[in-house]
Amino acid sequence: MKKLFKLLLHLFLYTFLLLAAVLTYNTLTADSKQIRTATVEKNILPDSILTTLSAGIRLPTVSAGAIDSAAFRDLDTLLQTSFPLVHDTLEREVINDFSYIYKWYGRNPRLKPVLLLAHTDVVPVESSSKNQWSVAPFSGKIQDGDLWGRGTLDDKLNVFGLLQAAENLLARGYEPERSVFFAFGHDEETGGDKGATAIAEKFVKEGLEFEYISDEGSVILEKALDGLDMPLAMIGVTEKGYTTLTLTALLPEGGHSSMPPAETAVGILAKAVVSLQENPFPMKIDGATRSFFDYIAPEVSFPQNVLFNNLWLTEGLIAGQLGKDATAAAILRTTTAPTMLRGGIKDNILPTRASAKVNFRILPGETTETVAARVREVINDKRVVVEAGDPLFSNDPPPLSPTESFGFQVMQKTIGQVFPETVVAPSLVIAATDARHYTALSENIYRFTPLQITRTDLKTIHGIDEKISTKGYKDLVRFFEVLLRNSLR
Ligand SMILES: [Zn+2]
Repeated sequence: MKKLFKLLLHLFLYTFLLLAAVLTYNTLTADSKQIRTATVEKNILPDSILTTLSAGIRLPTVSAGAIDSAAFRDLDTLLQTSFPLVHDTLEREVINDFSYIYKWYGRNPRLKPVLLLAHTDVVPVESSSKNQWSVAPFSGKIQDGDLWGRGTLDDKLNVFGLLQAAENLLARGYEPERSVFFAFGHDEETGGDKGATAIAEKFVKEGLEFEYISDEGSVILEKALDGLDMPLAMIGVTEKGYTTLTLTALLPEGGHSSMPPAETAVGILAKAVVSLQENPFPMKIDGATRSFFDYIAPEVSFPQNVLFNNLWLTEGLIAGQLGKDATAAAILRTTTAPTMLRGGIKDNILPTRASAKVNFRILPGETTETVAARVREVINDKRVVVEAGDPLFSNDPPPLSPTESFGFQVMQKTIGQVFPETVVAPSLVIAATDARHYTALSENIYRFTPLQITRTDLKTIHGIDEKISTKGYKDLVRFFEVLLRNSLR
């Protein structure tokens, strides 16, 4: 007996030592995926570029139902007067009145062009939140090192930043080898029908193919996670899909509420909604998120380095921890959000019908169809009809773009040159971007806004007190200048 105990103890000790050795080996041998490169000299940019952006912020190009055409026309005039060299040199096409394509032709037509995207529209400022702003939301005020207003982070910084970078390069006589196109939609915030969708369809018809496409997306986040001291530059390599399912509980008979049956349509529907909330989609660390951990694992300190370098063992533990935070959970699973309820017409009449809308943000690997199928399975009640989402507002997650491509590499290298103190990693973007409309035009689509911000800043996107630091905007313009130079020769 004693012998057996000793044997078991030894076995346990050996297993433990072996495990410790494997964990340590994996941690110590993880190769860094960072590109070490010489930084570029910071060119001095004049404050006038801030005044230009500020003038753009003052124009309320709000996208929500009917648009203020005058604001979009004023924006057009502003772009033409602020970037004269761009408008003299690049070919411009207007799509559906207010969306624009700019084509800057390179000398070598054999090189596939690059396509850089942004959008000119902004979300409205709710009247109830207007006086919670520290400055008027469309003031474009510049004070204490910040430029304030709706659109400073989403997404006028990218429209003005790209044109400013091109203008600066043209002023220095730059001539590209490779062609670059800019495409600016004017209805991204309402689905991109007239802008991105129309532009992408036109490009497909023209038989175009792009070396890579970039759009707004992930940012350079300070204090992104425990164990990482440097800001984290995340390049979105895919984004989540989107659908809203309608659940309808139907009963053949209504009647008087004084003699109710065991269940009413309202009760049946409520039960269905509760079971969806109680049975969330499983959490997964794969695809873009697996790749994210591969990139950051060699860069973090103990104990995160051991955890991230040994996902084969720690995946469940990490998912469990991250899953406690709503933002992190959104990266790991298809999310379930019941958003609307409707049922009954009078308090003393039994309803024969009750319905709910449930919004799902779909994790890559799943589709609108697999989501609907799982919803039916979880509800498991024939009296509840699950209706597919409106195809206009539903999309599967786009394919995962590779990190070995020229596009990813050139973006990573440029980040290293302009933001030397950062760690780069591919990531999953949880919001929807215009880029999803362009999947037919390139396998290499990246979503990255070259701006260093904090978690607090992130909350102001579509929210209150949206603002950009003047230093951040200048660095963004520098980034686009270097990205264009790196991409176009
Ligand atoms: Zn946006």
